[in-house]
Amino acid sequence: MFGRQGPGADFEELIALHDRECGLRGVIAIHSSALGPAFGGIRRRPYADEESALADALALAEAMTFKCALAGLSAGGAKTVIWSDLDIALDREAIYSAIGRAIERLGGRYIAGPDLGTGDPELDIVREYTSFVNPSPNDAAASTAAGVAAGMRAVFKRLGVRPGPQVRVAIQGLGAVGLSLAKSLLEQGVAVIGADPDSAAVDRAREHGIEVIDPARILFEPCDVLSPCAHGGVFEASMVARMRCRAVCGSANNQLVDKEAAQAMMRAGIVHAPDVLVSAGAVIEGVLTVSKQDRQGVADEVRRAIDNLESVTDEVLAEAEKWSLPPDTVARRRGRSIIRRTKEG
Ligand code: NAD
Repeated sequence: MFGRQGPGADFEELIALHDRECGLRGVIAIHSSALGPAFGGIRRRPYADEESALADALALAEAMTFKCALAGLSAGGAKTVIWSDLDIALDREAIYSAIGRAIERLGGRYIAGPDLGTGDPELDIVREYTSFVNPSPNDAAASTAAGVAAGMRAVFKRLGVRPGPQVRVAIQGLGAVGLSLAKSLLEQGVAVIGADPDSAAVDRAREHGIEVIDPARILFEPCDVLSPCAHGGVFEASMVARMRCRAVCGSANNQLVDKEAAQAMMRAGIVHAPDVLVSAGAVIEGVLTVSKQDRQGVADEVRRAIDNLESVTDEVLAEAEKWSLPPDTVARRRGRSIIRRTKEG
């Protein structure tokens, strides 16, 4: 994993987290601070083994670097991953205070935010030990959903449709981001269907008039846009032939299992709005609110920067079509070239 060539080889720093008292085990992965301090959430979930937890940290931190570069932010990418089946009810205080102290020791090179398993109650504990955290009034999920909606506007344009009842969007995952996205699409009159294995999420979605179907069907449902908002590693090349969508645009990080999946989607004529671009809403809000004091002024700036994801998505999709390349490849190349140009001064 940590060879000179393999995954992780181009990382700036990996910091092991280990606290014998509370059983904390994890890693802070700082991929790049070439454009500014590295931003990234704290993910806490069980993993099959340490190897897969590390691989997740590395892939997510790298994606954060690209998100920041593509969104025009003076910030880099990082991620904290905690691997364990810790009894969080017993150990929440100890676990997150240990993480807070570790972040403080980095002196501002890494700024943390929410992610799966880490919400405001956990970040409040971290905030007692360090100020290098997303400010508490931020709403990461709402900002992420707004970014996906901006990317989706570019996708609608490419498909030649206007939002309305004739357009059908299928959302995988009706959690914080999926539900917020669904509500904004419903407000525009779009027909929304969704799926989620969690019965509370299903009940909430139904209260908003969302048609809910079996999670096993959602990826293969006929629709204009399929929006993965549940977890990463969704699309494999072998499943693309069964997909009945015209486009994919969602918040889940690292949706494509590998490059073959991207190629298969392209061959099938499915437009893929890269997640590394359209899921940048939360980090846009995080970076801008951490660096500015005037909350009202910053709120307008955040809105403008998130809305701007529409035109960047538009450009990336146009370039991908022009060069017959998967949009994800184009987006990452664009991110790399922004970083290179900044480094060269
Ligand atoms: P969440 O935990 O609130 O919601 C995820 C939902 O997906 C849950 O309701 C879960 O039950 C459901 N789910 C899990 N497996 C599923 C499956 N197989 N089919 C259908 N539903 C399934 O998380 P969130 O904050 O809404 O984030 C959604 C995705 O977006 C995650 O992959 C996250 O990493 C990514 N993301 C989130 C943010 C953010 O700010 N919240 C930012 C960038 C990326």
